[in-house]
Amino acid sequence: MRLLVVEDDHTIAEPLVTGLRREGFEVDLAVTGAAALEADPADLVLLDLGLPDLDGRVVCQELRKRSTVPIIVVTARGDEIDRVMLLELGADDYVVKPFGFRELVARIRAVMRRIDAPAATPPDHVTGFDGLTIDRRTRRVSLDGSEVALTPKEYDLVVELASDPGAIFTREYLIENVWDKNWWGSTKTLDVHIASIRKKLDPELIETVRGVGFRLAARQGDS
Ligand code: CA
Repeated sequence: MRLLVVEDDHTIAEPLVTGLRREGFEVDLAVTGAAALEADPADLVLLDLGLPDLDGRVVCQELRKRSTVPIIVVTARGDEIDRVMLLELGADDYVVKPFGFRELVARIRAVMRRIDAPAATPPDHVTGFDGLTIDRRTRRVSLDGSEVALTPKEYDLVVELASDPGAIFTREYLIENVWDKNWWGSTKTLDVHIASIRKKLDPELIETVRGVGFRLAARQGDS
């Protein structure tokens, strides 16, 4: 496991890096905020907020923008800091200087355990969007964990829309791809199917783009 220690004070950095290496971690040291932002990807970042070049809070936000790497913020006693601010910055935990080495290692391991919790990455044949889950292997659709029974055409429509959530699919495209290139029936068929899907799933999940078509949209109601 690779740690990135961002600390400009070498009287802290040196024993810290040595100690962490002794614990079995691979450790990179960055002594400025700029160096931290240029460092190789790490499995966890230990970030001192008081840096010579950049505001540590900005470094934290920047790191968070580019990756989900766990970040433990190191603050000096007396820093104006609270949990809410740390969460807003994207930090996972914090320690206050002076901290005990044992305590720090325990925090690192605790954060890593939380991160290592079973990966929520779905397999390739599963598409997920805002509570909607489509298993293309079994052709099953569920919303917020409850299975929803769709007709084959309804299912095909949902799969089509979910292939690119948020993108607008024109009526013509949907009719050609879900029904037939030479479909000559009423396009009302599409509206009837959309209405039925909305009723079965959630009306907010499929948005009508007037005069154009439809798209999958995040629901406003909950989370
Ligand atoms: Ca410092």
